Amino acid sequence: MKAMVLKRICDLKQTADPLELVELPEPVPKENEVKVRVKACGVCHTELDEIEGRTPPPRFPVVLGHQVVGEVVGWGKCVTRFRGGERVGVGWIHSACGKCAFCLREEENLCGSFRATGRDVNGGYAEYMTVPEDYAHPIPEIFTDAEAAPLLCAGAIGYRSLRLSGLKDGQSLGLTGFGASAHLVLMMVRHRYPLTRVYVFARSPSEREFALELGAVWAGDTGERPPEKLHTVIDTTPVWKPIVDALACLEPGGRLVINAIRKEDIDRDYLLKLDYPGHLWMEKEIKSVANVARRDIVEFLTLAGEIPIRPEVQEYPLEDANLALLELKQRRIRGAKVLKIG
Ligand SMILES: [Zn+2]
Ligand SMILES: [Zn+2]
Repeated sequence: MKAMVLKRICDLKQTADPLELVELPEPVPKENEVKVRVKACGVCHTELDEIEGRTPPPRFPVVLGHQVVGEVVGWGKCVTRFRGGERVGVGWIHSACGKCAFCLREEENLCGSFRATGRDVNGGYAEYMTVPEDYAHPIPEIFTDAEAAPLLCAGAIGYRSLRLSGLKDGQSLGLTGFGASAHLVLMMVRHRYPLTRVYVFARSPSEREFALELGAVWAGDTGERPPEKLHTVIDTTPVWKPIVDALACLEPGGRLVINAIRKEDIDRDYLLKLDYPGHLWMEKEIKSVANVARRDIVEFLTLAGEIPIRPEVQEYPLEDANLALLELKQRRIRGAKVLKIG
């Protein structure tokens, strides 16, 4: 099968083509796994973190990709839920132990044995992949393969972020960064919390324009002050400045939710501007979002089908994965980038 593989950690400033197109043997499902023929795979900022070594894969070469939509075409002998032909999605969570305290309370995203699709095991930048049947999720019929792909990570983790924010209808929400995840959060909020006013902070004028089109009441550059204090802010940027700026915008008791697997080091010094009374005092809270649990994916797919949320997607052939990643790195983003495969 064709696959785009990562063979080593790279600096994307020095190399424009970190992934290599290779021929690999088709994977064979283990007894509890299904084999999926991949139709579409979303391109996520976390892939940049893997390539540049902020969350490095444990072994190479590895097939990246964790927003996978495809068809079940094979299964191991213990599989009971699938018999072939079903359309399924696979997200960032590939498996967890199933027995620890976190797993037992549906927080398998925090399990010590958490394994990530496209990092700890091969993912969807390929024609086929395998996944435990309990981690393959049915996709609502109304979505095309490409539309469904970004829902599996950007959407599911956006849903988890919104859950962890504790937002209630009518409370003001800020979004710092306006990429694949944030634009889906805005669509969800418009539906679930119609009285909530959403303020978007983004560097690029095109992202700010896009936010206003989707119903944000205000859009400004990072560092600008919105006309009211915010009850909660969800950060999806790869850097530090928006964190400090967001804390200054929170109302007393407000919460900042950081939806990022790692932060880049380029503006780490900005943290020294953190001022206790201005940024933290008055019971402000900071909470990070780690991975996704299965219920985030399942609940979000259902919600997305009901609303419905149709993400804006830009499609690329599998062979152009490097181009899609480079554009993501350069923040040439409108909606979500998706590889069309097969
Ligand atoms: Zn992702
Ligand atoms: Zn566990």
